[in-house]
Formats: sequence, structure tokens, C-alpha cells
Amino acid sequence: MNVLVINAGSSSLKYQLIDMDTQVVMAKGLCERIGIDGSRLKHTPSGEETVLLEQPMKDHSDAIQMVIDALIDKNYGVINDMSAIDAVGHRVVHGGEYFNQSVIINDDVKKKIDECGALAPLHNPANLIGIEACQKAMPGVPMVAVFDTAFHQTMPPEAYMYALPYEYYEKHKIRKYGFHGTSHYYVANRCAALMNRPIEELRIITLHLGNGSSITAVDKGKSVDTSMGFTPLAGVPMGTRSGVIDPAIIPYIMEKENLSIDEVNSVLNKKSGVLGVSGLSSDFRDLETAAAEGDKKAQLALDMFEYSVKRYIGYYASVMGGVDALVFTAGVGENNIPLRERVLSNMEFMGIACDPEKNNVRGKEVEITKYGAAVRSFVIPTNEELTIALDTKKLLA
Ligand code: ADP
Repeated sequence: MNVLVINAGSSSLKYQLIDMDTQVVMAKGLCERIGIDGSRLKHTPSGEETVLLEQPMKDHSDAIQMVIDALIDKNYGVINDMSAIDAVGHRVVHGGEYFNQSVIINDDVKKKIDECGALAPLHNPANLIGIEACQKAMPGVPMVAVFDTAFHQTMPPEAYMYALPYEYYEKHKIRKYGFHGTSHYYVANRCAALMNRPIEELRIITLHLGNGSSITAVDKGKSVDTSMGFTPLAGVPMGTRSGVIDPAIIPYIMEKENLSIDEVNSVLNKKSGVLGVSGLSSDFRDLETAAAEGDKKAQLALDMFEYSVKRYIGYYASVMGGVDALVFTAGVGENNIPLRERVLSNMEFMGIACDPEKNNVRGKEVEITKYGAAVRSFVIPTNEELTIALDTKKLLA
């Protein structure tokens, strides 16, 4: 069975074609600048060079058609014809309270994804356009929606409610939803497999640290709390997002800086985080380099990030009544060696300690626990596409 995994953004579309018998990625790629000048498709057949195809794509339907054409191309294709695509798995960012697991897409599901668009205006409409473009190009091929929020639907009300007037929850669905669920689910389950223990016995803290970051308490395989909230703006400071701040700051700076709602949203989402503090970059590699050269604001941005991550480890260990394992994943979590070491420093009191030599790896599945530490620490590269494909296969079985 071959599953095509689609992650549609507003002007981009990422894809992977996965052979589910071997779990091998046959080809992957990215359509960029959909609907704007300079549209292009970067297509990489497994083990081969990336092919760059520059061709106008006026909308997502054009993009999907280009993806299919690339997949069946005589020279750089990987399948003979479209009938070799057995199913499509779509990443959908927001499933609201409707979806606590993946679902086969039908008209009712599409209607609900559309309704949740109010909660994720940058993502859900684009995800839905991707679904409809695929349905048009591949009529009759079954499709599954896999939601970023679904894994977190197991959080108890005391974790997901905000202490605001209750009617805002009823009227406007204001509550914590959490994101990156596919990633937290995947790495928590990989962690249990690496520990050779049933996940139902484990308390795991998963640290998805990338350009966007979130941390989740996974108790007996279920998400019981997560650092992102109503939107992906909450939690730790991120590349350009503020993370949690005192909410009173918002009306205060709106008044002092004469900012509109759109402007303050843009400040919080695009000009804050480690970029805002350092005034330099949202990329943690740039910050490490600058800090090593003595840049104080870059150092402060890194210190703030690490402090915040540490805080969540203590917080979630207390929520779960202890912790058995920590998992680092995503761009920063998988690759930033010194940052992992600093986050795990001075935590022996909790049974947490990392071995600097074992920790000296990037992008590989590895245990980094110091000999004798009670809590085990791991680096586990995330694989959201495989998780989406596995869910798709499972639902269609
Ligand atoms: P996104 O949230 O956009 O998916 P990623 O998970 O790709 O983000 O993470 C991007 C971050 O990962 C960047 O800040 C970058 O500095 C960091 N990163 C990626 N590769 C490396 C590396 N080899 N060494 C250190 N940091 C890295």
C-alpha cells in the first residue's frame, strides 16, 4: 500500500509518498509560492538528486497535479501511474473538540474542519484547500485527516480551561487545544519502544523544540498537559513567538506603542521570541554563534529559552507525580547539543542527568542518560509524515 502524505499551507504544499509495506519514503517534495510569481516544485525521489521544476501554479489544484505528474514522470517518477496511490493522509492543524483521533474524510468532516478555521485561520483553510484539490485530482481515492490537536484531547478540564468567564468557553470555544500532537504521539511511543516497556506504565515529557516549540506531559500514553494553548503562541519563547507573557502587557503596549490588533498580533507572532530578544535571528544556530562571540542579547535569548524549557520539565513532572523519561525532538531538540546539555544540567535532584559523550549526536535516535540517572533521556527524531501514513493505513484497513 502506498500512502501520499500531504501537508498544505497557504502558499506551499509538502508531500511524501510512503510505501507502507517497507515504510520507505519513495519520494518527497515541496511546492512553493503557489498562487504567486515564481512557483516551483522541488521533488526528491528516494536516494536521488532533487529535481527543481519551475512552472506557474495558480492554485493548490495546479500544485497537486504537478506533484502527481512528478511522481509518475518517466525520468524522476517513482510509480507508473496514479492508480499506485492507494490513499492520501492529510495533516490538518485544528480539529477543535470534534476530533480526538484521525478520521476518514467525508463531507461532514470537511464541514467541521471548515468550522475550526475560526480557531486556526492561517492553517485550516489551506488544509481544506489541499484536501479538495486532492479529491478533484484523485476521485475515489480514500483520504484521511490527521489533526495536530487530536492527541491533546485527553487533557483534563483543569489543564485545558482558562480562568476566564466560563461563557467564553461555551460561546467562543476558548480553551487550551495544544499542537504538534502527531509529533508528541510519535516520539512518546518510540520512547516506550526504546525502553522496551508498555507506554501505559510510563510518564514521559516530550520536548518538541524547533522554530515553533511545545512540551507535553504524556502520562500512560495520553497527553495530560501541553505548553501551547488556544493557539500556538503560548508556552516557551519560540523563534519569533513570545510564548507565555503576562496578558496585561498586551493592552499596555497597544496603548503605549499605538498598535492595532493586527499589529500587536504581528509583534507577538513574528517579532518576539528569541528573535525579539536578541534583535538578531530566530535561528538557534545564529544565536549560538553570536553568543559564543560575546553577544549578550543572543546569550540572554538562549538563557530565557532554556530557563523556560526547564520550568516545564519541573511543572510536568509534578503534574504526573514523577517522570520516567524525557524526549528531545524537532530541529533544535534533535540537533542542538549544547542546549540539551544546559537544559539537563543541575537536575540531578530529580534523577535527571545527561552524559556529554552520548549527547554528542545530531538527528539520531539515541539515549543520552548519564549512567545511574533514574530518569532516562533520549533524542528521537520526529516523523510526523510516517505517523500520518500509519494512521491512514490503520483507518482504511
Ligand atoms: P519548524 O518549527 O519550522 O518545523 P524545525 O523543527 O525545523 O522548525 O527547527 C528549526 C530550528 O532548528 C532552527 O532554529 C535551527 O537553528 C535548528 N536547527 C536545525 N538544524 C540544526 C543543527 N544542525 N544544529 C543546531 N540547530 C539546528
